[in-house]
Amino acid sequence: MKTSRRQFLTAASFAASYALLPRFVLGQVKKPTRVILLGTKGGPRLGEAGRSNPSTLIMINDVPYLVDCGYGTSKQLITAGVALNRLRYIFITHHHSDHNLDFGPLLYNAWITGQPVQVDAYGPPGLDQMARDFFHYLKFDIDTRIADEGRTDPHKLIASHDVVKPGVVLTNDDVKVSACLVRHPPIKDAYAYRFDAKDRSVVVSGDTAYAPELVEFARDADVLVHEVMYLPGIEALIGRLPNAKRLREHLLASHTLPEDVGKIAAQARVKTLVLSHFVPGDDASITDEQWSAGVRKHFNGRVVVGRDLMEV
Ligand SMILES: [Zn+2]
Ligand SMILES: [Zn+2]
Repeated sequence: MKTSRRQFLTAASFAASYALLPRFVLGQVKKPTRVILLGTKGGPRLGEAGRSNPSTLIMINDVPYLVDCGYGTSKQLITAGVALNRLRYIFITHHHSDHNLDFGPLLYNAWITGQPVQVDAYGPPGLDQMARDFFHYLKFDIDTRIADEGRTDPHKLIASHDVVKPGVVLTNDDVKVSACLVRHPPIKDAYAYRFDAKDRSVVVSGDTAYAPELVEFARDADVLVHEVMYLPGIEALIGRLPNAKRLREHLLASHTLPEDVGKIAAQARVKTLVLSHFVPGDDASITDEQWSAGVRKHFNGRVVVGRDLMEV
């Protein structure tokens, strides 16, 4: 009797869950917004301390929105469980190579899956030409595969959208994405992006010196992913170089110290602050406590010291 009763209950609960199924199929039940750090090391040099070059993945209703794509992003996406034929949206904050070196390879790697979806790319002017230049670099391979394997022109895969001023850059059923001009001299076209999904708001600072304008832009965000630079680590790194003074000045003018990251997060009243784009990102001797101590002087909320493939 017991068994048949259990069978009955199982059948009943199966029927109940089956009744829910069409809602999932129709997409009426939204998947929660996820933030996954793909690469957390600032700068283009390849790291030895376990951090990949910068990239942040935001999954909104199971659709990937990729912010920046430093070297290795294709591989990191796969490791994070996102097949490359699902590549859909790319946002480039600025045209330093640690933020765009994998742009061409990502498009190529999506194309070569044979089942790519359309990719919309947003960023400072230059993306369309970069894609063309990259496909030209691989002209022999691509022409061969089109003729030999019946593939299509990879350039048809990408639609690029120049971001030339702050404001809303994309709106769809799931999210509104807006851009804010930040401070990253000598580059003028450097942006932060904000993603307002139904369940969560996420801001990615891009590379910037202390930028008080981020306070308003990141106002009440659930998650702020902000770059950070640790000065003692820089001093140790560049101290003996002949151009140490110039380098130090350059870094201070274009990146943000922990104390200032804390000020931005506190004034914006964000719920969670995620430190990423660590400079220097190769020095494994710098502890999480050292990265976050300056931040905590100003910000009492949740601080996450980012690591590759961490989900927030
Ligand atoms: Zn950078
Ligand atoms: Zn930069």
